[in-house]
Amino acid sequence: MWNSVCEAISAQIGDDRIVKPEDAEGRLISVTGEAMPAVPILRPRNTEELAKALEICTAHKTPVIPMGGSTGLVGGLRHTGKELYLSLELMNRIESIDPVNRVATVQAGVVLQNLHQAAEDAGLLFPVDLGARGSATIGGLISTNAGGEKAFRFGMMRDQVLGLEVVTASGQILDLSNSMIKNNAGYDLKHLFIGAEGTLGIVTRVQLRLRPQLPNVNTAFALISDFSAALELRSKVETALGNDLTAFEVMWPEVYEMTTRHRSGRLPLPVADGIYLLFESEAGTARDPEAFETAMAALYEDGLVEDMAIAVSEADRRDMWSIRNDIDAIIRNLSPFLAFDVSLPVSKMELFVQDLETALTTRWPKTRFARFGHMGDNNLHVVVSIGQDTLHYKNDISSIVYDRVTMMNGCISAEHGIGMDKLPWFELGKTSSAIALMHTIRTALDPNNILNPGKTIGAVG
Ligand SMILES: Cc1cc2nc3c(=O)[nH]c(=O)nc-3n(C[C@H](O)[C@H](O)[C@H](O)COP(=O)(O)OP(=O)(O)OC[C@H]3O[C@@H](n4cnc5c(N)ncnc54)[C@H](O)[C@@H]3O)c2cc1C
Repeated sequence: MWNSVCEAISAQIGDDRIVKPEDAEGRLISVTGEAMPAVPILRPRNTEELAKALEICTAHKTPVIPMGGSTGLVGGLRHTGKELYLSLELMNRIESIDPVNRVATVQAGVVLQNLHQAAEDAGLLFPVDLGARGSATIGGLISTNAGGEKAFRFGMMRDQVLGLEVVTASGQILDLSNSMIKNNAGYDLKHLFIGAEGTLGIVTRVQLRLRPQLPNVNTAFALISDFSAALELRSKVETALGNDLTAFEVMWPEVYEMTTRHRSGRLPLPVADGIYLLFESEAGTARDPEAFETAMAALYEDGLVEDMAIAVSEADRRDMWSIRNDIDAIIRNLSPFLAFDVSLPVSKMELFVQDLETALTTRWPKTRFARFGHMGDNNLHVVVSIGQDTLHYKNDISSIVYDRVTMMNGCISAEHGIGMDKLPWFELGKTSSAIALMHTIRTALDPNNILNPGKTIGAVG
């Protein structure tokens, strides 16, 4: 099926740039455990090779799925039987770290953790961070507009991108390079490709904004009675810490119980029936290191907080975050489950959680949940299990979740994208004119529908 297109690509850019299907097996495993079929994988070494390969794919009307670190969580790499995979793994060069202009120029296949290290070596910070940092690539992070742990302060991936190089479906190299924060001449085309999940072009090279390192890091874990107290506390913490506040995370009690049940050693906080909040501030060297403790003591004396632990070492801090990030414990406890990444106005989060619990337990009395999220960014993760039948009722459960999200003016995807998993609900909360414009843009950039077809906005036309 792919012989003639692969032969044409081999002839132009070299036989060793294509992994044959028989050698691809085992390399194609997505992080969700989804089996990916053994199909050829294109592995260009540079933009020119990638552009040539895409030009040939367009001529053969062969669709491609761009692939980064395969850590996406919404089926963005799902194969529909026709596509070649296009891996950016050999395009993994950090081209430059410019400490004066605070700009990193990197190829799209660079792994996030490697960029963190390179920035740190130059005394700088790349502020997007998430649990998949050891595998997720810059191209994948841009294409999903990833958020992560520090989006509250530094924004999402979109906010870090200064300039891009993209290859369009026809093989045209679109140079949108830029190294400045301010550049207002004409349409800012780079934004079309950020969060487009590979459906409008392949991101090949990028200029990213770097920040100064902030060595004065302080972390606290608090237990409070309920969500309305969490809202009040968030406001007080923001007033106390101002722009230093980097993360404000929330966990419902079942999550704290699941993630600490088998831990040895002392827990930062007791297991109780309240809401857990993890927050962190990052500041420069001039900030008084005692200021955080003073602010926390004042909050404690206020009576709003039931219990609080402050990290006094990097080990303490890591321990706190490892509780927040222990997704494995949730998987062990709730499998089989469905996971939802939604955003909601914080004022409606509690109502949403209660309403959802009532709706699901009325129909499936044994429903269990894990609810946590980046509260500071309106982002809630809800993991639901109704028991062994969970996956069988995927559409029913998803509709119950997403209908409520839409009713409360939220969004069905906060930071993971649409991929294929959320396609049936993609149009919720969007106007028909906005959807029509998306289809027009998609068709203009990729008239043959060869770039990750069927993802994000579904079938075009
Ligand atoms: C443990 C864990 C924790 C996570 N935490 C977070 C979190 O806190 N916040 C968050 O936002 N996400 C999180 N994620 C999701 C995931 O890490 C992100 O979606 C990430 O951005 C995907 O990067 P990737 O390189 O793995 O892309 P892939 O999974 O390979 O691809 C993702 C999508 O981007 C497309 N794509 C990949 N590379 C390119 C390119 N160069 N050009 C065009 N399209 C491309 C693919 O076709 C696909 O549609 C987490 C995942 C895991 C496993």
